[in-house]
Amino acid sequence: MIYDAAIIGAGPAGSAASFFLSQRGYKVIVIERSRKASSICGEYVPDPSSLGIEGEVGSSYSEFFKPFVVNELRRISFKIFGRSFKVDYLGYSIKRSEMVEDRLERAQDLGADVRLGESFITLEREEVYKILTSKGEYFARYVIGADGFLSRISRFLNGEKVDLDDVSIAFPIEAELKVEDPSEMKLIFDEEVAPGAYAWIIPRGDSRANVGLGIRCSMITMNPLDYMRKFLSILGIEARDLRGRFVPVGGLVKRVAEDGIFLLGDAAGMVIPSNGGGIHNAIISAYLLSKSLESELPEEKYTSYVNRYIRGDLEAGLTYRRAADVLLRLGILKKMIGLLPRSMASEAITGRRGKYYPLLKIVSYLYPLSKGRGGSRSACRLA
Ligand SMILES: Cc1cc2nc3c(=O)[nH]c(=O)nc-3n(C[C@H](O)[C@H](O)[C@H](O)COP(=O)(O)OP(=O)(O)OC[C@H]3O[C@@H](n4cnc5c(N)ncnc54)[C@H](O)[C@@H]3O)c2cc1C
Repeated sequence: MIYDAAIIGAGPAGSAASFFLSQRGYKVIVIERSRKASSICGEYVPDPSSLGIEGEVGSSYSEFFKPFVVNELRRISFKIFGRSFKVDYLGYSIKRSEMVEDRLERAQDLGADVRLGESFITLEREEVYKILTSKGEYFARYVIGADGFLSRISRFLNGEKVDLDDVSIAFPIEAELKVEDPSEMKLIFDEEVAPGAYAWIIPRGDSRANVGLGIRCSMITMNPLDYMRKFLSILGIEARDLRGRFVPVGGLVKRVAEDGIFLLGDAAGMVIPSNGGGIHNAIISAYLLSKSLESELPEEKYTSYVNRYIRGDLEAGLTYRRAADVLLRLGILKKMIGLLPRSMASEAITGRRGKYYPLLKIVSYLYPLSKGRGGSRSACRLA
């Protein structure tokens, strides 16, 4: 049989693609290498109003995750090199695994063929695509790359090059923790705690939280796990089985669609580079794909939707991340932090373009000169 689409990967992007495409009547097959299509992360998603996304795109995104919300978060409390302040920003802590599993099941009810524990190996272009996996071969008109960081599908469109400066490694756990205000997420920026990124405490109620940190692969000087162990010991949390996962923070890939191949979520570099959040774009890109396949020129349509709804925040986030890299590497950020307006920091971290964007854009031009200062590149190897 020939499927309309073969979706590679069943994380937030792949599960959303299977759900939205099946809803529109497409016959899809989902290939996921893990036996269980789930894993935890910070499990935080912004409200569509915080992202400035309205209309059917915003409501489709929101309806996708809303049944899995465990806690509403109304504020972000920042601690940046010892300076503390708060901003209002609406978001949610969600049950990510339940969301992914439920959406895959719904897609299956609508006819999707879901294969867990099966790895994509390669593809060949015949009249349609022939997809070779660890267990067999399948035929499909479209191939959807939802296979995350170091996507094999993206290699067909964008090659293999990865700059270590564009990669973070992050560790999440869920733990018992008494939190003062369950509606407030805490982000801690400190070179000693989380070089080049930040540590987080995301309440899931008043006595549980998702706790973790991200660190930039090019800025660390010790074993990545030791940063997480140190942070947990400060909080008095004991944890075993800590596992890090890579986060692409280099922005959008060059080509998101070509010749019947489409890239979604992390496979397309859709993580906001200044905060590491990518669940929202994984879901939104899947919805945009489902709309695009109705067009006569789906690749062009999808690319134009990505440019309209996703590209802007990724470009702004990359500019902010690079400006922060410059200030960090020159040792200026820590000294200047008391002088910087709060709104500049919150703009940069949430990744939305604001009044300080032009200034930070100028600072970001120095980024190529700052590269390679500090950190140890060998401490973090890409698997
Ligand atoms: C520790 C950590 C914390 C994070 N916290 C947050 C957060 O709080 N909020 C937020 O918005 N974002 C967060 N992120 C980022 C977020 O997890 C990703 O942006 C999101 O998971 C992207 O979804 P995805 O489906 O595109 O990719 P993934 O979740 O990476 O899913 C890709 C899937 O493809 C499968 N796959 C890969 N290769 C193959 C293959 N060859 N064959 C078959 N299957 C394959 C993988 O097994 C995986 O299931 C965090 C990331 C990390 C690492």
